[in-house]
Amino acid sequence: MAERPIVIYGDPVLREVSEKIEQITPEIKNLVSDMKDTLKKAQGLGLAAVQVGVPVRLFILDLSVIDLSETLRVFINPEIIETAGEVEIEEGCLSFPGLYQKIVRNEKVRVKALDQDGNEFIMDADGMTARAILHEYDHLEGKLFIDRMSPMTRTLLRGRLRKLTAAS
Ligand SMILES: [Zn+2]
Repeated sequence: MAERPIVIYGDPVLREVSEKIEQITPEIKNLVSDMKDTLKKAQGLGLAAVQVGVPVRLFILDLSVIDLSETLRVFINPEIIETAGEVEIEEGCLSFPGLYQKIVRNEKVRVKALDQDGNEFIMDADGMTARAILHEYDHLEGKLFIDRMSPMTRTLLRGRLRKLTAAS
């Protein structure tokens, strides 16, 4: 059990397309465990493996942050099966400390993934859960939430983004 440092914007690993996990090895289990500790410490809603510098197709969501009846969920090799609607919600990212912006994304999502024991599950989500799934899924594709901002917003944020890059 150990936290790992969260990779900040500017580190090229965040642009890598994460690789499929062929087998849930002890290393992967260890990574999941460390990511749980890291997410808890950061008090975030979601964390992708690439955000701790390991570009494999894995993310976790701590849904209890928004819904007390929920728990932490692990998504291995997730696939977005279906999306519907569009909604603009403010979101942040642990790789962009202090930056929050309204982003347009799908409102609903159906996702298929493996849990940490390798069991397949399908989940239908909306609201903040759908938002978090889509945000984390983007990380696996090397995509960041700034890519979904308008060119004008990105221009306005240029100074702050440069500061993050310099600090990483
Ligand atoms: Zn993020």
